[in-house]
Amino acid sequence: MIPKFDRITIIGLGLIGSSIARAIRKAEAAKHLVAMDRDKAVRERVMELGLADEVTGDAAQAVKGADLVILCVPVMANAALGAAIGPHLSPGAIISDVGSVKGSVVRDIAPHLPEGVHFVPAHPVAGTEHSGPDAGFAELFVNRWSILTPPPETAPVAIARVRALWEAMGANVEVMTPEHHDLVLAITSHVPHLIAYNIVGTAADMEKVTESEVIKFSAGGFRDFTRIAASDPTMWRDVFLTNKDAVLEMLGRFSEDLLALQRMIRWGDGDGLHALFTRTRAIRRGIIASGQETAAPDFGRPHPPLPEAKKNQ
Ligand code: NAP
Repeated sequence: MIPKFDRITIIGLGLIGSSIARAIRKAEAAKHLVAMDRDKAVRERVMELGLADEVTGDAAQAVKGADLVILCVPVMANAALGAAIGPHLSPGAIISDVGSVKGSVVRDIAPHLPEGVHFVPAHPVAGTEHSGPDAGFAELFVNRWSILTPPPETAPVAIARVRALWEAMGANVEVMTPEHHDLVLAITSHVPHLIAYNIVGTAADMEKVTESEVIKFSAGGFRDFTRIAASDPTMWRDVFLTNKDAVLEMLGRFSEDLLALQRMIRWGDGDGLHALFTRTRAIRRGIIASGQETAAPDFGRPHPPLPEAKKNQ
């Protein structure tokens, strides 16, 4: 049982915001849950789904009296929201977020926070390629990591309360600096998304291979990139523009390694290729062993039965 918050306000009821709302409901972590979204259709849907006790389109109104406010909007939307809600936050309130980049979020929100408000930025490393309130589900964070990046002056009690909330939603919690977070996520999340966007874009521009062939033969590997490349365009535009330095650093390393691979293929260095592919296989086994992925072949996709044998054959 976690110490309950009296009033939690979630701003932005998309995939992550609506998943948090559902998980908070299940964990009974708030006495009163307020949802704020700028889009009337989303607000109506949130009411229909019963995701909150109160739904509003007014950010200032939404945060009044809240002891926890969680911003769940694209990274570059945080600055304007921070400015809009800052003057209306109650003394002692905790403000958090879920942005995939932490350095820019800290820079954009911190200046708007009045004295006595605690800032505990967070990033749940969990998601899907879908968006909006219908895409969310309460179990999204179970056995996933949520990374907290509080400024050094944040009160430990505020960090402990946010940690307890994530744990109540099933997540594991780690604390690190925003700079370290952005470097780690550049290689584990941001560059892989860029590679997926790039390879799907390259295939779309091919002239000698038709689009229907790309789709027809996609099970050769391509389709697994398309899941990532179907992720929300606004969210990912913001990630690359705000984590520019770390992404460019990792892309530099990636390009060097790609050139080395190109060279191995050109010079027929089979041993080199085999050694690398053996190392990479071990990394996947490590991810499975840590419970971050299923061991089922082909990501556990169901395979249809064989066609019935034709009679009299
Ligand atoms: P989403 O499903 O597209 O939802 C985004 C929400 O933000 C919507 O409610 C949207 O409102 C609102 N919004 C967009 N622009 C806004 C603006 N300028 N001002 C106010 N509200 C705005 O996105 P999501 O996947 O939940 O992502 C939300 C945050 O979570 C992002 O910061 C992202 O980096 C982070 N995150 C995402 C994932 C993931 O895999 N998707 C994982 C971890 C963290 P409308 O309904 O009006 O568009």
